[in-house]
Amino acid sequence: MIVAVLLAAQIAAAHPAVITIRGQSGEQKVAVAEKLSGPAIRLSALSPVIPVSIDSLGGGRYRVTLAGIEFFVADQAPFMEIGDRVLPLATAPFLDNGDLFLPLQVLVEQLPRAASNRLRYDMAKAELLVFAAPSAGPTAALAVPSRSRPASSAASRKRTTTHTGKRRVVVDAGHGGPDNGMSGPLRGEGFRVHEKHITLAVAKRLASILQSRGVDVVMTRTTDTLIALSDRGRIANQRNGDVFVSIHVNAANLRWPRPEAARGFETYFLAEAKTEDARRVERMENESVKFETGVTADKDDPLSFIMNDMAQNEHLRESSELASMIQASLGDMHPGPDRGVKQAGFRVLVTAFMPAVLVEIGFGTNVDEARFLTQPQRQQEIATAVAAATMKYLEHYERRVGLAGR
Ligand SMILES: [Zn+2]
Repeated sequence: MIVAVLLAAQIAAAHPAVITIRGQSGEQKVAVAEKLSGPAIRLSALSPVIPVSIDSLGGGRYRVTLAGIEFFVADQAPFMEIGDRVLPLATAPFLDNGDLFLPLQVLVEQLPRAASNRLRYDMAKAELLVFAAPSAGPTAALAVPSRSRPASSAASRKRTTTHTGKRRVVVDAGHGGPDNGMSGPLRGEGFRVHEKHITLAVAKRLASILQSRGVDVVMTRTTDTLIALSDRGRIANQRNGDVFVSIHVNAANLRWPRPEAARGFETYFLAEAKTEDARRVERMENESVKFETGVTADKDDPLSFIMNDMAQNEHLRESSELASMIQASLGDMHPGPDRGVKQAGFRVLVTAFMPAVLVEIGFGTNVDEARFLTQPQRQQEIATAVAAATMKYLEHYERRVGLAGR
């Protein structure tokens, strides 16, 4: 995992302006487009040395066949599906003047890794070697290793509409017991908030709104008690949840110029943390582990786990959709700002084998927002917004599987 991170960092830091593609039919130089998001490659620029076909599947999704390797990407979604795996990308594919661009990382890292019999990238020479592909036949023979999944995931992947025929949402109130979570605000006005109380209050409201709309709800905690991070996901799996929503309160980094001023809401889904700010929130939320007695808090990057277990990764796309819906819905009521959908390696999300998100509903370190987060009326509005997005997601998902005839 660390190797992958370093590699991605290197690509971002010092990527070539041009890469050379060397294949059966000759050699070709391809310019690397310098975009705000990072280095990218215009897919159509790769042919004819690399045969490329792009099929639009609607909804911004594309099936790409490149050197005989089939994979799927979506406009503005930072991951790719290949074989039965979903791989995170440092930046998202995008359209520019009708042309599909992929992050350079796809070409020089993800594809060569997934299909080393077809592509090899020589970083020193900035050269991509393309090996002979079998004649335009099916790509089924492609050696994309498929990972074995834990049994619990196989069960949850069925997305059983449970025996009651209801969808089941797992609502997770962050922290609890000796783990207060964050405390604020930074510039005191004589009152103090603990994250664990706010998360429980909002989670309870969220649960009852969802129940009132006919959804089964499982709460990981209903009292001020400590639940191990890994147990939260385990509970979600055992109870066969369809969706996992974890509620948290953010805290500013004291090294920021004016930490007390930071405010706003953001929603995370599980993937490699892409920014220093995402890593900050990841560290903060993963710290709960230290309260778990009898658990040796392993210092491993929790993402080493996810990379070994692609079962979770297959839910990335749906998790990202749910996260977007929650952000949009919160945007209707929250004074903001909208800090966007982000990615990080949250321990609590790693073990939940279902679409899973973590919502930071505001900054408890900010005086105004701390007050906002403690008002019952506001808590109800936040819960209503998260519930509305969750319902929308469930309906959307239902429609999609309905259409797919699964
Ligand atoms: Zn938290």
